Amino acid sequence: MRPQAILPDALSAVGETPLIQLNRIPHAEGIKCNVLVKCEYFNAGGSVKDRIARRMLLQAEQDGTLIPGKSVVIEPTSGNTGIGLALACAIRGYRCIIVLPEKMSAEKVNTLRALGAEVIRTPTEAAHDDPRSNIMVARRLAKSMPDAVILDQYNNLNNPTAHWATAEEIIEAIKAGPAPPSSTSLLHGMGALSLNNTKEEPFDASANARPLTPDSNRGADEPNGSVQTFSDKVDVFVAGVGTGGTISGIASRLKRADHNPDCFVLGVDPIGSDLALPATLNALPEGSDGSYKVEGIGYDFDPNTLNKKVIDEWFKTEDEQSFVYARHLIKDEGILAGGSSGAAVNAAINWLKPGGAGWDKFGSKAGLNAVVVLPDSIRNYITKPWLVSDAKPERRQAEIDFDNFQ
Ligand code: PMP
Repeated sequence: MRPQAILPDALSAVGETPLIQLNRIPHAEGIKCNVLVKCEYFNAGGSVKDRIARRMLLQAEQDGTLIPGKSVVIEPTSGNTGIGLALACAIRGYRCIIVLPEKMSAEKVNTLRALGAEVIRTPTEAAHDDPRSNIMVARRLAKSMPDAVILDQYNNLNNPTAHWATAEEIIEAIKAGPAPPSSTSLLHGMGALSLNNTKEEPFDASANARPLTPDSNRGADEPNGSVQTFSDKVDVFVAGVGTGGTISGIASRLKRADHNPDCFVLGVDPIGSDLALPATLNALPEGSDGSYKVEGIGYDFDPNTLNKKVIDEWFKTEDEQSFVYARHLIKDEGILAGGSSGAAVNAAINWLKPGGAGWDKFGSKAGLNAVVVLPDSIRNYITKPWLVSDAKPERRQAEIDFDNFQ
């Protein structure tokens, strides 16, 4: 439903990502409110970080910090900011050097190299202020190169500010409500698409259309005969936290008086990271050495781009459940999300479901909207064992009886 127009370059294909309703996952857990995911993998470079890369780079060009044809862009990153910057550098013509910890996937490295970036790897276990960390290595390198510029996603306020637009998109989609049936009718077996406004010959697809399945029915009749409703605001907002730019920028906008000051914001932090409050939440469970495999979230220091005041509650996640939920997103919802998306949805579902801390006030209330950010896609993890392991989870087939389709 994006307006179609000619875009001048790939950087212009950042933003305007879809907000999509989850169906099987929340239904299987008994959640009554709407769970909507902001799918950031539709951005040109494949992640939410394309937004900040574009803004930081263009702003630096505008204020003269970056000089086309001369400056060298260096950035310490967990990969996605690097990919966004490498893409912007490819288009604008800058040399780009990305410094990232060993833990980050080979897929990210290959993408960076394909975009023409030079890649330096640093030990994952190095603390942020260790001279071997990606942040310190990038700083030393920049000092040694006269034309080097670190745009610095940990301190650059263009990072959270870029997400004002992300929040505006969410608000706009929520205000618009469910998409008209004409755009979804084929998928839902409700007959052929409306082709009234085109010159296409009509094609009778209804004969082959998949019959209506109760839990894929959206914005129309619910299985119990009631009509699904959507509030006109974001009632709960959930996002994983790395630099904090995403959650701080979006939550600040959503909580403004002209949208919903009562919007409840849940911050997602992996076990092993020190970002969550109260700090006692960050104590390591027995047997954990503090390392974790999910990429892009969690730190051992508070970045200046993170505003903890906008976060009402924190949820700690562990790897296995995060990856289980990433696979549920893929297998049950057709949403090709990455590991930190699984962490965010894992947190949202466990918080909203019966027995979860958010059940009484939010999860049990039909019509309320919980919005979860999905930062990147399986493109970054396509050979990772967590993605290709075939055993778990089973497809959620609840309520679908394939033998009784008519
Ligand atoms: N998930 C992934 C995959 C990421 O790359 C990042 C960025 N580090 C995040 C989540 C967190 O985003 P932010 O830095 O805006 O907190």
